[in-house]
Amino acid sequence: MTTKLYDIDAYQTTCESRVLSCKNVDDSTCQIILDQTVFFPEEGGQTPDRGTINGYEVCDVQIKDEIIIHTVSATNLTLKENETVFCQIDWAHRFSNMQQHTGEHIFSGLVNKRFGYENVGFHLSDSIVTMDYNGPMTEEEILELEKESNEAIFAGKAVTCYYPSKEKLATLDYRSKKELKGAIRIVSIEDTDICACCAPHVKSTAEVGILKVIDITNYKGGVRLSILCGMRALMDYRLRLSQCREISHLTSAKIDDIVPSVNKLKEDIGVLRGELASSQKNLLAFKSASLDPDACDVVLFTENTDANVLRYEVNHLTTIHPGYCAIFNKNDHGYNFIIGSMEKDCSVLAKTLREKLHAKGGGKPEMIQGSLTASSEEIKSLILN
Ligand SMILES: [Zn+2]
Repeated sequence: MTTKLYDIDAYQTTCESRVLSCKNVDDSTCQIILDQTVFFPEEGGQTPDRGTINGYEVCDVQIKDEIIIHTVSATNLTLKENETVFCQIDWAHRFSNMQQHTGEHIFSGLVNKRFGYENVGFHLSDSIVTMDYNGPMTEEEILELEKESNEAIFAGKAVTCYYPSKEKLATLDYRSKKELKGAIRIVSIEDTDICACCAPHVKSTAEVGILKVIDITNYKGGVRLSILCGMRALMDYRLRLSQCREISHLTSAKIDDIVPSVNKLKEDIGVLRGELASSQKNLLAFKSASLDPDACDVVLFTENTDANVLRYEVNHLTTIHPGYCAIFNKNDHGYNFIIGSMEKDCSVLAKTLREKLHAKGGGKPEMIQGSLTASSEEIKSLILN
């Protein structure tokens, strides 16, 4: 069994340990087992601590049968049995995890008190903290719980971690994810929550700083929440505020007015799109009017025109000309086209365009569409017979 120093003192950042074993896994990593460690392993939904052993980067920490295995990035590291090594965790990373995890206990404790739900899926990584509650909650209820959580944080309530005696444990009403074996570690937050947990926690809720729910999704009949605590919440606020400022500059609106301002822009774009389509329709109608009304097959060329406008004009042309009625619309790569006909089989023409001009696309005998790269002369010579 590895002595878990983080269990005794979550604020201990360094330790000297005795090497029990050290074996190279491959050319660049080796696994070290120590008599004692400050490194919290991946456990209970939380990713492991980061840091160094004798200056070598610890890239993973796992626990198996109460033995903690440190994976270190090092080439052919040779540590002798009983040799003393110096361990140091990345404190900023650990403290952030402690803030997130205690924040989760506060929120889950309040959810449990109010609704009786359990957190049945907890995940704490370097980028995200999610909790899955096994029952529904409205956004309004979640925001109330968020406020209560922050009140508990500001009140600076004591957080204590301990292994109670069997007798004491029997008297405790505590939350637990599963039936636990062996000694049970209790994390108690004054007036707020009692929960079985193996992870390091802050000693006062005040150290959590702030708790913000940033995402709510329905999940398996319950709800999945994402939260941010402490510095992570501040960094997120910084990012979101800078994005709001940027939108404010781009729209020349006060930061409090960016939503109506963006809505107005969307409306304006809709109106302009309508006006553009109407102009394009008129332009195509004008071009169509210049065609010989007795021609059987006709081809029109245009550019950057809306697909609905093209289809509308092709349909119109087919009421005048019995043969192929084609519109080729120039774009960055060549042309996209729509061809319709009342009397001729457009799929025959589609085959010809594929064979002769490597066109892409197809359709039905009445109408085809696709794209190709060719000159207007090449196109006309194939369609106008
Ligand atoms: Zn926990």
